[in-house]
Amino acid sequence: MKILVIGGGGREHALAWKIRQSRSVEELFCSPGNAGIAEIADCPPLASSDPDAVAEFVARQGIDLTVVGPELPLVQGIADKILAKGRAVFGPTAGAARLEGSKAFSKEFMRRHKIPTGDFEVFDDAEAAMRYIDTHEVPLVVKADGLAAGKGVVIAETREQAREAVQKLMIQKAFGGAGRTVVIEECLFGREASFFAITDGSRVIPLVTCQDYKRIYDDDKGPNTGGMGSYSPALHLDRDVTRLVLEKVVGPTIRGIAEEGHPYRGVLYVGLMLTKDGPKVLEYNCRFGDPETQVILPRLKSDLVPLLAAAAHGDLSQVRVEWRREAAVCVILASQGYPGHYQKGKKISDLESFAGRQDVVVFHAGTRTGPGGEIRTAGGRVLGVTALGRDISQARENAYAAASQITFSGAQYRKDIAAHVAGVAPDGE
Ligand code: AMP
Repeated sequence: MKILVIGGGGREHALAWKIRQSRSVEELFCSPGNAGIAEIADCPPLASSDPDAVAEFVARQGIDLTVVGPELPLVQGIADKILAKGRAVFGPTAGAARLEGSKAFSKEFMRRHKIPTGDFEVFDDAEAAMRYIDTHEVPLVVKADGLAAGKGVVIAETREQAREAVQKLMIQKAFGGAGRTVVIEECLFGREASFFAITDGSRVIPLVTCQDYKRIYDDDKGPNTGGMGSYSPALHLDRDVTRLVLEKVVGPTIRGIAEEGHPYRGVLYVGLMLTKDGPKVLEYNCRFGDPETQVILPRLKSDLVPLLAAAAHGDLSQVRVEWRREAAVCVILASQGYPGHYQKGKKISDLESFAGRQDVVVFHAGTRTGPGGEIRTAGGRVLGVTALGRDISQARENAYAAASQITFSGAQYRKDIAAHVAGVAPDGE
């Protein structure tokens, strides 16, 4: 098979790494890729923001399966363009990707299909939004309807903060068209959890549980990032919660979106709040999470390609998935200053010693190859160091031992990834 992966972060390196191990792969392309991906795939410079150009490449090269990493091309309809060329794609069409692309659509979808979520109202008019704030209890959550790179959500503790958020999104248009419509939502309390499942439009294969860390500093301090680490399994998502999420959320979502004429083929992420009244949906994503993929795929024993291809072709009935018993921990190494301003071009040393290691994989995110063949930093999040271990403690120890061996000027990473769950046995899957 000829496979194309779209994207160039740690998520795409993890996908390309696992796809490369498949016996069914003859050629692997990844665009734009990064320095790590370029070691295992051809990286043609396609503009993923131009779905027509990608579809053209897919048709010309005879690509059998395209795997789309990021949400933006999916929301813009890259899958539709590839399907129109008669080629298979892992990732939902624009119609199904609205579950992530529009928060107003996804909340109204949940209401239509009785999927548990916080109470809400949708506003196109700032005056009406302000009136709603005046008559409802705080805290309230104000969300931009469209994609805003994870920055379009404000948890407002006071009415003043809620009004400021509406002002910023709807009047000052801080996120452009993404804030033309806003959702104002009840604030939910409990523990957050993520859930990933692969679906062919009707059948569902849940992936192993995992947990990511979004804040830049230890103890969940500082601003949000694209993710600073993750671990798997996530012990708070036990069998009972998983069953409930499949029955009350994932099943009705997959059936509902198909009934509305947009069968969903790809990976569905559900962000949940485990409230005292049961799991409630915070959001959907229509693709793999970045740090999560870097712990999920190293735990996958089976070949990834038949799983992705079967979902893309709409028939998962023959696919069986096996997982390793080992736990996995991923620590993200970022540039100094990230998620604010940071410098690029720092030389990264001591990466070679991890080549061929079974228990440690270093996934590249913001990296590029320098003129002398050396690897240099080229982004905010630079590397994801994933280690396996017999339990979370062991995996954590292995990941930090490896992370401490890699150096580049200004490297920063969290020291508390999986710290609070270390020592708990990985069962419940
Ligand atoms: P979202 O992009 O909708 O998942 O929102 C980003 C983050 O905001 C979530 O991961 C939660 O931490 C928080 N959040 C979103 N909606 C709510 C809500 N209704 N109640 C409490 N926290 C929320």
